Amino acid sequence: MDEQARVREIYQRLQRESANWEPTSLSYFKGEPFKALIAAMLSAQTREEQTTAAANRLFALADNPFDMLKLIDEQIYEAIQNVQYAEPKVGYVRDIAERVAANGGKVPETVEELVEYRGVGWKVAVLTLAVGYGRTEDITVDVHVARIGKRLGLVNPATKQPPKVNEELKRILPRDMWPHWNALMVQFGRNVCLPTYPRCPKCPLNDLCPKIGVDRVSTR
Ligand code: SF4
Repeated sequence: MDEQARVREIYQRLQRESANWEPTSLSYFKGEPFKALIAAMLSAQTREEQTTAAANRLFALADNPFDMLKLIDEQIYEAIQNVQYAEPKVGYVRDIAERVAANGGKVPETVEELVEYRGVGWKVAVLTLAVGYGRTEDITVDVHVARIGKRLGLVNPATKQPPKVNEELKRILPRDMWPHWNALMVQFGRNVCLPTYPRCPKCPLNDLCPKIGVDRVSTR
């Protein structure tokens, strides 16, 4: 099987399997750029269910930048206190709301503009564009995308920076896969290709995967 056929087979098998897995929660903010931006920023270093709960508490108080600016810091903190680095993130929420309000309520549509915002790095910017605007010129790279890409031999094991992982993946994955790759890897990484003990014996990709860097596997 050549590499393009292997990639296509990986994708098709995972798409079939994904019907059995929980969807990723940021998809709840699909088509809502401001909410997607705030939720993506809150998600840094934080588990998805905590991010969603915090974002929903915050959006129950204010779901647009103008109303969010009327909140006091204590209200924001109380809503998001269960995310990692909640204190600096209160400042990021305020900064994002101020900048978006100053832009007439419109979230920028480029990575270059978004990374100028406090608390917004490349990954948050790409995720915001994908969820909020359906823009998929890049693949959102998180720990699941990077880890699984390396195990599958799609990404160089030495590559560390998310933008570089994105470039390597875009060279090998056909364009139609880019919009779905992050969510697929997040679901797969939570259910099968786990960080420390991947479930290789039960993995639908077992025969397609070189298991690069995998030392120990789960027998469950
Ligand atoms: S075979 Fe193992 S390392 Fe490869 S994708 Fe499946 S779970 Fe991950």
